[in-house]
Amino acid sequence: MNKKDYYAVLGLPKGASIQDVKKAYKKLARKYHPDLNPGDKQAEEKFKEISEAYAVLSDPKKKEQYDKYGFVGDANFGQDFNYQDFRNVDFDFSEIFSDLFGGGRKSTTYNDYSYSNAPRKGEDIQYSMRISFMDAVHGLTTKIKVNRSKPCDACGGTGKVPLSSPQTCPRCKGTGKESGGLPFFHMERTCSLCGGTGRITFTKCSKCNGTGRIPYVETINVRIPAGVDNGSKVRVPGKGEAGINGGPPGDLYIITVVEEHPLFKRQGDNIYLKLPITFSEAALGAKIKIPTIYGETTVKIPPQTQCGQKIRVRGKGIKSRLTGKNGDMYLEVEVKTPSIVDTKVRELMKELEKYEDKNAIRSHFKV
Ligand SMILES: [Zn+2]
Ligand SMILES: [Zn+2]
Repeated sequence: MNKKDYYAVLGLPKGASIQDVKKAYKKLARKYHPDLNPGDKQAEEKFKEISEAYAVLSDPKKKEQYDKYGFVGDANFGQDFNYQDFRNVDFDFSEIFSDLFGGGRKSTTYNDYSYSNAPRKGEDIQYSMRISFMDAVHGLTTKIKVNRSKPCDACGGTGKVPLSSPQTCPRCKGTGKESGGLPFFHMERTCSLCGGTGRITFTKCSKCNGTGRIPYVETINVRIPAGVDNGSKVRVPGKGEAGINGGPPGDLYIITVVEEHPLFKRQGDNIYLKLPITFSEAALGAKIKIPTIYGETTVKIPPQTQCGQKIRVRGKGIKSRLTGKNGDMYLEVEVKTPSIVDTKVRELMKELEKYEDKNAIRSHFKV
């Protein structure tokens, strides 16, 4: 055996991880496996080479030794290298073949063994739902159409149906074993199609194409509870995908997307509203009718209210889904300067000016 750099053989940098070794080997085995290159001597040689590299580098002990001493301990990897080692190579070649030829449940027509009989819960479904601001506040009951699935009635949700008469397994020709197909590469394993029985007793259900379930659109009544926000999750149990082999269905999760409101803003369970007030309302105080998420109400604006001041209106926020308590509402005061187009207003302002202390208002501007 010549002194090759095992890492280079697999196209890897020195000291690459076992995971990378496995990945690289899988990729190369796909290219050079003799079953895929019948009669090609070069491919066979290349395959031997990468398999030897793999046998060493996928074994933590041998790899460590190799990383440390390289070929100093040639005997460990070289002359003594025994193709019988391949038996112990920890690599499942069926991965390669199933990837290439579509093994497993996807494309076989008479697969018995690879179908698990264990009941499996169906997958959950996520459904994004747009709702109005007020519906989010108060909750709503509505109908939605969801693409989900139900167990196939033809096969009882198993994906397979019994054959009227059992057939000889076409992969192993009834022997129950499959092999790598090279003289030196004596790899025999249990047939992945029939599970070693040599016989096929089931065929894929044609109605559901072996999936065990039938897609359909269901109209579902949903109740969105009051107080949901953007991104809230509402669970509807049992309305996900159908289970396999009699397993329970998954759940439906409605994710709420809440539309904006022209007046109200929301932060947690509190509601914010910009409140424009006049000059005199701000100065003298007033009682003002305002909209809330629960309808109209009257609030008292105290005298000498300033622009930007926040006025709290207790309990007029959103009822918390967690605590059941109501949030508050905050009025953000915007004092509107009077228009002086009117000559009377202009006169009044001139009059007012006489009473204003312009030094006091900016007394903190000491430069
Ligand atoms: Zn078989
Ligand atoms: Zn079916």
